[in-house]
Amino acid sequence: MVCFCFLVDQTKKVSKRKPAAGFCSRCGGGASVADMKTCTRFCYVPFYWKSWKAIVCTFCGAILRSYR
Ligand SMILES: [Zn+2]
Repeated sequence: MVCFCFLVDQTKKVSKRKPAAGFCSRCGGGASVADMKTCTRFCYVPFYWKSWKAIVCTFCGAILRSYR
């Protein structure tokens, strides 16, 4: 039998947060500017990283806006 592993997953991490002006459209919570990091893994081996900035809600965690 051949064991074929084909698994890709992505993990998102927030590395830094700063308070920002604005409110969440979903819950009305405060917004903050976050440095996000996306790590793509293939068979549990990380092979691609991307860091980007986003405005996220501090209360519910929703991404209100993203910069690339
Ligand atoms: Zn919210």
